[in-house]
Amino acid sequence: MIKNSFHSQDNKEIIPYQLYCPACDCSLEDHYTIKCPIHLHLVQSKYFTPHFLNRKWSGIWKYTHWLPIKKPGFGDSGPVTYQSEQLARELNLKRLYVSFNGYWPEQQAFVKSCTFKEYEALVTFQRLEDHNLKGIYLASAGNTARAFAQVAQGVNKRSILFVPETSLSNLWTIDQNNSNIVLVTLNSQSDYTDAIQLASHFSDIEGYVPEGGARNVARRDGMSTVMYDHVARFDRLPDHYFQGIGSGTGAIAAWEGAKRFITLGNYGNTLPQLHLGQNHPYDPIVHAWQQKIRNFDLEMLVENPREKIHSISATMLSNRTPPYSIPGGLFDALVETQGEMYSASNNEVNTAVKLFMETEEIDIVPEAGVALASLIQAIETHKIHNEDTILLNITGGGFTRLQEDYSIHPISPTFHYKNLEDIKEIKNLF
Ligand SMILES: *Cc1c(COP(=O)(O)O)cnc(C)c1O
Ligand SMILES: [Zn+2]
Repeated sequence: MIKNSFHSQDNKEIIPYQLYCPACDCSLEDHYTIKCPIHLHLVQSKYFTPHFLNRKWSGIWKYTHWLPIKKPGFGDSGPVTYQSEQLARELNLKRLYVSFNGYWPEQQAFVKSCTFKEYEALVTFQRLEDHNLKGIYLASAGNTARAFAQVAQGVNKRSILFVPETSLSNLWTIDQNNSNIVLVTLNSQSDYTDAIQLASHFSDIEGYVPEGGARNVARRDGMSTVMYDHVARFDRLPDHYFQGIGSGTGAIAAWEGAKRFITLGNYGNTLPQLHLGQNHPYDPIVHAWQQKIRNFDLEMLVENPREKIHSISATMLSNRTPPYSIPGGLFDALVETQGEMYSASNNEVNTAVKLFMETEEIDIVPEAGVALASLIQAIETHKIHNEDTILLNITGGGFTRLQEDYSIHPISPTFHYKNLEDIKEIKNLF
């Protein structure tokens, strides 16, 4: 018997899943569980139906049967996968598929926070709902916070966000009312990792849980929908998957998503090869993978990481503590898929963003430019063949397009964090 199955009231369907720790080969009950009590290995989710697709729901909810939730949640945003013509012709590729994650209503793409982080937020909030939790707290350099802010208004749950002051320009929603959002800023010398450290002080607040980062199965499987959508549309796995990465959580999710299809048996035995890019000069994962060892020591991989983080244009790719070494994490994903890492300069990123705009006629974020710049490098260095099936993850785009249809409302900071003495006061804001 599967413990987590139940009848949802809204949909009268049983949607079973199970959390699973590969290290002890055991199942775990889901109480918004983000860790095995014994092992470091990333907890994974298992699904019990081959029917991953249900077209009666929209956006990512089409894949509810392969998400760690009990019923579909709020909204209609999800990946849109299509075969590229113009860009493919420009690059001389026969089978280039774009996963567009952003706002592009002409292509049925309705991600109003304009990045795939919204899927993490949507699935995570539904998971909170399933477990009767009030809200979530998390640290972010911008896009994750924006996605959780945008969705918090829709689902009526609270988001407590810890964000470096320098990322404030990334924080907006299309709603005027931001009553479910508490925004705590950190000073301009701090970065994303400092924000993570601050967030770690709030684990004792009733009804609130830490978002969990890469450990949160809702976050990872929410991003697996990029792979699900490719298979739903083209009935096969791609040979290659391209993405710009900071933590690599999206790439882990693509790998895990692909493995679910291989387990089914009708999709062959070959995993898509991961081709992941970072923005030079902040490219620690590129250097870590060159050494082909699990160890990840940031100071050994890049000199003056904080300085370098401030000089990249794809600012979302600036994680200092990626889930690289952790069992079931990025190192394992790269090993299993015989992955490749690329480093793209700001110039290359710029060129890629422009090329996409000229060929596909929609604006994309620099992080997606890193993915395209990596694809261009892979072509030039013959890492792929022009007949191969390629899935290019455009992780964010359509911000310019969005502003034709909506007005953007900046989120005002609730509290500015100065030192540890402020923590008590911040707790009162939950
Ligand atoms: C967060 C983010 C990424 C990187 O995703 P990870 O897989 O978590 O490293 C890429 N593009 C955009 C637009 C993002 O917001
Ligand atoms: Zn375990």
